[in-house]
Amino acid sequence: MQKKISFVLPIYNEEGNIPLMYTQLCEVVLQLEKDFEIQIVLVNDGSRDQSWPLLEKLVQHDERITAINLSRNFGHQLALTAGYDHASGDAVITMDADLQDPPHLVLQMIDKWLAGADIVYARRADRTDGFLKKLTADLYYRFLDTISDVRIPRYVGDFRLIDKKVLSFLQTSREKSRYLRGMVAWAGFKQEFIDFKRPNRHAGVTGYTWSKMIKLAFDGMTGFSLFPLRVAAFVGLFVVLSGAGMFFFMIADMLIYAVSYPLFKWLAVIMYLFMGLQFLLLWIVGEYIGRIFEQQKGRPLYLISGLAKDVNCVAQKGKLDEARIRSLYQ
Ligand code: UDP
Ligand code: MG
Repeated sequence: MQKKISFVLPIYNEEGNIPLMYTQLCEVVLQLEKDFEIQIVLVNDGSRDQSWPLLEKLVQHDERITAINLSRNFGHQLALTAGYDHASGDAVITMDADLQDPPHLVLQMIDKWLAGADIVYARRADRTDGFLKKLTADLYYRFLDTISDVRIPRYVGDFRLIDKKVLSFLQTSREKSRYLRGMVAWAGFKQEFIDFKRPNRHAGVTGYTWSKMIKLAFDGMTGFSLFPLRVAAFVGLFVVLSGAGMFFFMIADMLIYAVSYPLFKWLAVIMYLFMGLQFLLLWIVGEYIGRIFEQQKGRPLYLISGLAKDVNCVAQKGKLDEARIRSLYQ
């Protein structure tokens, strides 16, 4: 049976890009249509320009398109999620609608998928963004890499192909603060990369304001690491240890050299110590909150990429000796 490929594109004020984006996508689709069934899911994320009327027109001319109109601007990640929810392909490709993710790369992605990859990321080998965005992105990716529990690939955005195994995980996992590239990385499976030079946006302006970017960065950190909650532990430990040091120093001073400290100095050290204790208690509360948070995310406990059991195997009673097991490797 023919395999199906779905394209998902989130659209926010992209009226200037839709015609060219659609034309370029169609060129790629034309090549693919010999071998695959095609679905195109276009998600309008509360655009304030003519994007939605344009999409309605496209739908009338192209039966492969499903257009979704969100009731307001929910943001890139949720627009992508709505797209994933309506995608039914064996592989799903997400890409931006502003032509920063060149459609022709899709062919290489599909080749890698056919060769066995479950996730194919397009990695930005060379960013054309401004200095500040480049610097902050670089620092952020490094930091996230250090603190996160899963290895989230660097320099990848949301231009990627995922197999339907990963799709069903994204469709069933309903955590609210979605950082999709983290969730995809969390899923595991066989991952591959394609490097590309990211061009500038074709028309219009970026929909990613600084505030949206900061929210995304926080979703990435809080969704994949409990480190921020544990900061209190480091502060508390430092304060308690240094406070105890000062306290015992004063006691020793008093006992050995008969130095008498005024009451306010004792009070200062004792209050300092108790502040440290409060931080430690805050950390313990944080650990519980972290566990509640992990639980409410409702991610599956594990995902399985394959099962092996051969019902036709020759019944092997007794043991396989080591030499025979080794011979299996050859
Ligand atoms: N986008 C969206 N909702 C938003 C912001 C952006 O659906 O609130 C879409 C946008 O139309 C584009 C993609 O997400 O297809 C990437 O956004 P953008 O190009 O503005 O981000 P940048 O490439 O500057 O990081
Ligand atoms: Mg863009």
